[in-house]
Amino acid sequence: MYNLVNRNQIHRHTHTCFKRNAHLCRFAFPCKPSWETKIIEENSPQFLQNGGRFCEQKRAAHEKWVNNYCPKILEFWDCNMDIQPCGSNEALAHYVTKYVAKVEPEDFNDGIK
Ligand SMILES: [Zn+2]
Repeated sequence: MYNLVNRNQIHRHTHTCFKRNAHLCRFAFPCKPSWETKIIEENSPQFLQNGGRFCEQKRAAHEKWVNNYCPKILEFWDCNMDIQPCGSNEALAHYVTKYVAKVEPEDFNDGIK
């Protein structure tokens, strides 16, 4: 599991981390250490500091660069993932809609001659 996490789940900043803000990683890394997993009130300052995630997961200080994962899925899939609980039907609809409507960079070139 240690090798799987190191290979797939360690966040390393790239230029896309800072395309919206030059000083803050848009994926909210490094993550804040927490003694326990807890629910954060939506639209609170903590919610925004947590990258819009309503759940702050238990995390030791040395795990601040580890992306959220499920050990069983990681073992089977052996690839990067960002697993997090979904707090409501609205949050699920928002998440799915965001990805269905996402514009890929190559879409800008379609139809342009
Ligand atoms: Zn980053």
